[in-house]
Amino acid sequence: MSTAETPKTTKTTDPTDTQVLVIGAGPTGLLLAGDLATAGVDVTLVERRPHGLANMTRAFGVHARTLEQLDARGLADELVATGTTLATARLFGRLDLDLTRLPSRFNHLLVTPQYEVERLLERRAVAAGVTFRYETRLRGLRQDADTVTAEFTDPDGAPLTLTARHLVGTDGVRSAVRTALGLPFPGGSVIRSLVLADVRLTEEPTDAFSVSGSGDTFAFLAPFGDGWYRVMGWSRTRQVPDTEPVDLDEVREIARRALGTDLGMHDPRWISRFHSDERQVPSYRVGRVFLAGDAAHVHSPAGGQGMNTGLQDAANLSWKLAAVLRGDAPAPDTLLDSYQSERHPVGAAVLRTSGALVRLAMAHTPLTRAARSLATRLLSTLRPASARAMGMISGLGIAYAPPAGSKRPAGRRAPDVHLREGRLHELLRAGEFVLITPEGELPALPPTAPVSPERLVRATWTDPTRRTAVLVRPDGYVHWTSN
Ligand SMILES: Cc1cc2nc3c(=O)[nH]c(=O)nc-3n(C[C@H](O)[C@H](O)[C@H](O)COP(=O)(O)OP(=O)(O)OC[C@H]3O[C@@H](n4cnc5c(N)ncnc54)[C@H](O)[C@@H]3O)c2cc1C
Repeated sequence: MSTAETPKTTKTTDPTDTQVLVIGAGPTGLLLAGDLATAGVDVTLVERRPHGLANMTRAFGVHARTLEQLDARGLADELVATGTTLATARLFGRLDLDLTRLPSRFNHLLVTPQYEVERLLERRAVAAGVTFRYETRLRGLRQDADTVTAEFTDPDGAPLTLTARHLVGTDGVRSAVRTALGLPFPGGSVIRSLVLADVRLTEEPTDAFSVSGSGDTFAFLAPFGDGWYRVMGWSRTRQVPDTEPVDLDEVREIARRALGTDLGMHDPRWISRFHSDERQVPSYRVGRVFLAGDAAHVHSPAGGQGMNTGLQDAANLSWKLAAVLRGDAPAPDTLLDSYQSERHPVGAAVLRTSGALVRLAMAHTPLTRAARSLATRLLSTLRPASARAMGMISGLGIAYAPPAGSKRPAGRRAPDVHLREGRLHELLRAGEFVLITPEGELPALPPTAPVSPERLVRATWTDPTRRTAVLVRPDGYVHWTSN
């Protein structure tokens, strides 16, 4: 168990062991636990791996909306410095999406290894006072009206029981939490025998970020910025189980067929074969227990959405749990249910997009090739179509339904506007709601707003002609506007 710094609050009256148990210290669990502890919630993060042993899930693309979420936690600039930023994403070998058009401070794709994201999130979680329990594996759980009781095996193999007010399963694709809840994980395999390697190259690629394929093969190449490249490839003629060994020759051969060159790949530091499923759990909430990240949804790596979606699940759930536990939510169940109503459709949309991307990349019948040509033409000639695709892939286009009694722009992402007190996304670093008003005005907030007036961060428009008050949620979406 790693040592934690002094928590902001300590429980004195609650008889449970901790207020929230988070199971799984991947990116989703680390962000969630860090947010909860920052909000003063007592949180225990349980992880089956020993501390320091790398998480084997391997994202490398961090999209604009995720960078905005990390900016709202003071981590984005440090993360950007660990990788390389790409201004263009290339699809199907010939369609370039110009990411500089994204309406964000982060108008690019950041390529950096997943462990860098986890390193920063873990440091933040430790500093915020999260209690970590490594080498501890969830075995089962039960819940009643007030508590969740979870059974673990501790680092010595002995049974351990912990109780909490809520439990969140961020324990990845084979989630023990999901199994303990008896939930199905419907779906199937979308692609088999993908090969993956981190390599050095003797030739510089002409494109920073390449995806290309013939329908019978495809390959994808992205730079980490430090001389290492991530390559991913697939060949219709070599479909074997994940257990089948893979060597650099196989990766080189696929690259030659898909990209026309293997760019002199050498010295792999990591090489693997895997398959990819498309699945989504029907319920993200069962009573006091929640699922987030890969535990709730998995899909192909096309579009680089998995880690990004998990981090945004966590950002959506953390403030809701904190509001309920702090007694700030007038309708706790409605607020907690909004996690399902907001995030389940996003997960479903990600499955559709990444599924479409991978199927179009594998297109080999005349019909599917025609569909790929049409998609390429539409995206390259119709600006609204490409803006929509970029909004989806970058996460900036995600919007939720306005809460009952509110109207648009409620539910939409709040852009990083400059205010008298600083940038909005900097003000969100307090982890609280931000109320933006004209100078000197304090509007009456809707009685249903899950926010305590003492915790609210107050801010003022720099433009004196702006007369509307806007209440922004801790996860950077508009909750309410005065007109
Ligand atoms: C090849 C590849 C490329 C990818 N590229 C991208 C990309 O570019 N961009 C992107 O956004 N995503 C990408 N992904 C997906 C991304 O890696 C995952 O979506 C992400 O890791 C999910 O994070 P998570 O925290 O939800 O789960 P995980 O990272 O799987 O973490 C779950 C944690 O729970 C722990 N755990 C499991 N069971 C238990 C238990 N019973 N008790 C205690 N602890 C437990 C595990 O040890 C693990 O640490 C890629 C995935 C692959 C395989």
